[in-house]
Amino acid sequence: MKNLTRYFLFALIITALLFGTFAQSSAHNYKTSAAFPTLFAQYDDPYSDFRNAKYSNAGLLTERDEIKLGIQLHREVTKKFSLTDTGLARADRLGQRCAQASLRPSLVYKFHVIQSREINGFSLPGGHVYVTTALLRLANDNELGAVLCHEVGHIVARHSLKTLKKSKEYDDVASSLGDITGVAGDLARDLGVALGQMVGAGLLTVHSRDEEREADFLGVRTMSGAGFDPQGMITMFQKLQRIEEQDSDLLGSLFSDHPDAEERIANTRYEIARMRRR
Ligand SMILES: [Zn+2]
Repeated sequence: MKNLTRYFLFALIITALLFGTFAQSSAHNYKTSAAFPTLFAQYDDPYSDFRNAKYSNAGLLTERDEIKLGIQLHREVTKKFSLTDTGLARADRLGQRCAQASLRPSLVYKFHVIQSREINGFSLPGGHVYVTTALLRLANDNELGAVLCHEVGHIVARHSLKTLKKSKEYDDVASSLGDITGVAGDLARDLGVALGQMVGAGLLTVHSRDEEREADFLGVRTMSGAGFDPQGMITMFQKLQRIEEQDSDLLGSLFSDHPDAEERIANTRYEIARMRRR
């Protein structure tokens, strides 16, 4: 519990700041420009940057090395957090639906539950997705589907791999992964320590606001393909928003560095309406 709290403390502070600053900001027309009124409709799309994106491991770790890295990072997660079978069958059942409907269905996804009173979800390279017992209690199936499909979206878009690529540890990590024999072999001891520190500092689990928007976009579209009611993403945000107002200590990185809830709700409404038009 202490670890988890420290893990996301920074994120919580950012969240609080964002809420204060952007609470009134209008959501999905942030790209509009008065200078180009005739192009208004075109610029009104909050997800225009992501619609034609193609996702692959090109320029990043290979998928095989990504899977190896995921296994090593998961080991570090199990040292820091207490994993439980409580709610695991449900998280896996709903999560696999997201995985199959995602733009990266060939990867093997593993869903994990962390025992914690903090409401949180995060993902790591190689298909590992984590949700807390508090989140499982809070969310109905469509809402949990929203979180899981969002986290799968981070894995589809290789957000953590892109972060890693920019980090000073990248060369060491990449060459050490190449040295591992088999997928789950032992890693050089000092690299294990480095990965543990990465997990502890949230380097690979805290994303930029643009990455969060992209995961929301991929998530809501995946929800629809996976047979969830995408409205669950909106009601999930609303529940998180209420908790943020009442007891923000309970919120983990799920809300960290994310666009503010009002924007996320408006963007999600935009995308649901757009999906219905087609
Ligand atoms: Zn996210």
